[in-house]
Amino acid sequence: MTQFSPTQFRNNFPLLHLKIDNKALIYFDNAATTQKPQCVLKAINHYYQYQNANVHRASHYLSSEATTAFEEAREKVRAFINAGSTKEVIWTKGTTESINLVSQSLGLDHLTEGDEIVLSESEHHANIVPWQIVAQKMGVTIRVLPLTKFGTIDISNIETIINAKTKIVAIAHVSNVLGKINPIETVINRAKKVGALTLIDGAQAIAHLTIDVQKLDCDFYVFSAHKVFGPTGVGVLYGKEAILNTMQPYQSGGEMIKTVSFYKPTTFNALPFKFEAGTANISSIVAFAKTIDFIKPYIQESIDYSEYEKQITRYCYQQLASIKGVTFISEGTPDIPVLSFTLNGHHNHDVASMLDSYGIAVRAGHHCAMPLMEYLTISGCIRVSLAPYNTYEEIDIMINAIHNIVSNENFIDSNNTAQENVRTSLNEITLDSIIEKFSKIKGWDNRHREIMLLGKTLTRLNKAERRDEYLIKGCESLAWLKIEKTERNTFLLSADSDAKIIRGLLVIVLSAYNGKTAEEIKQFTIEEYFSKLGLLQHLSPSRGNGLRAIVETIKRTVK
Ligand code: PMP
Repeated sequence: MTQFSPTQFRNNFPLLHLKIDNKALIYFDNAATTQKPQCVLKAINHYYQYQNANVHRASHYLSSEATTAFEEAREKVRAFINAGSTKEVIWTKGTTESINLVSQSLGLDHLTEGDEIVLSESEHHANIVPWQIVAQKMGVTIRVLPLTKFGTIDISNIETIINAKTKIVAIAHVSNVLGKINPIETVINRAKKVGALTLIDGAQAIAHLTIDVQKLDCDFYVFSAHKVFGPTGVGVLYGKEAILNTMQPYQSGGEMIKTVSFYKPTTFNALPFKFEAGTANISSIVAFAKTIDFIKPYIQESIDYSEYEKQITRYCYQQLASIKGVTFISEGTPDIPVLSFTLNGHHNHDVASMLDSYGIAVRAGHHCAMPLMEYLTISGCIRVSLAPYNTYEEIDIMINAIHNIVSNENFIDSNNTAQENVRTSLNEITLDSIIEKFSKIKGWDNRHREIMLLGKTLTRLNKAERRDEYLIKGCESLAWLKIEKTERNTFLLSADSDAKIIRGLLVIVLSAYNGKTAEEIKQFTIEEYFSKLGLLQHLSPSRGNGLRAIVETIKRTVK
């Protein structure tokens, strides 16, 4: 492989040329999902144009084409992780499904009351909740490995936590928030000593490390294609053949059977098909093979590629560390380019939404690791996750933007707490005045600024009014909504949030509904209003700011 060129590498990814409001997109949310190279996009198209048929089911030409490509992809994955056999490579729709498969199939059969499952404090919900469900059903206890101050699993007490009662140990190779490589070899060895099975969640490791499942000697290794430049909807469960053979199917239906009869017991297919009920995501699996062809030489063979990744990680870490108010959630430079921090005096969602207004995509919140947030006693954090198509220039732009956020404290009042209410002119802020103002604004950055300014006009709730019963569910930041009915059957709405961006959005929503009757509230088409303001992009139910959650709470409550 020739010397690594970030520019050449980047040119493979068409989406990275995207401009948002005339600003170049800076994509720093690679731990959530990576962008896809042109060859993968082409492969999906090629599959549907020239190969599309169901696999393993027919003797016609197309089916044989599709089946060959499908099974070649399995072989590519086998080699990618150095599994002993393709029987040990099972297609799923992602890491989450792989873990559910193991926990349901193995958990329900192999566990009995009094057994223990060991996880760690830094697990993703995908590697917690499936085990909790099984544990509850089977009367099994979950034990949790603590972390060191550097954010890796603390093995100092491992012999107590992983003990004779332990039946399964399921841990992440690398945490999606801390970005540190866990000492999984030590954990696997300890689990083996007590006869426990091991599952390694490789969702974050797969794009950065060479994985050799035989060398690791874990029983299961799981990951998603989309985190390693492949398509969404495809995951891999690697499992040792001998163990998979003892497990019951997870889902059932076509493909996973050998014989089905109403008069004799149904028999199951051989590995790996026994665990692949129904039609798989064939196009994406075939395209994943092309992803591996593309990315394997970089991840597994190019020292320059890994070195560049390390260098941008170090650079980003140092630059962030130089900003007053940045606190990393663990000590030391991360091992993979996942950097999580808080910014003193600024709500995580405010920082993320402000960076979004610069065209920079980062993520804020609990990152599907609520127990980790609890462990670190933080409500959430900002996560910057890089890939080798990111550049030093992009990092510099983000660092400058964060400097601006910090130095603009006075522009968008930094910390007006619930007590020091900014009881400004909410009465002057009407729906019409908001529409009028926004009609003159161009670009998301200016809209964003206007929303933040509107937030300053919100009459804050006092501490006593910030009751749990007023909490808006579905909004990732804490936000409260108090709804009172007046004698004239109209509604008086007041609200608050810790995040400035949400306070601005609340002013926008409240201006539409305040002083209206239930009927008027129901009749009002908020989508049209948001569309006029250019806010429709903020309506998706999954947006952390929960704009839709606010609207739905109001509509549900008023009667
Ligand atoms: N585990 C880890 C460590 C992850 O980072 C993720 C994705 N954020 C998952 C599990 C779940 O992956 P998926 O959503 O692709 O199933």
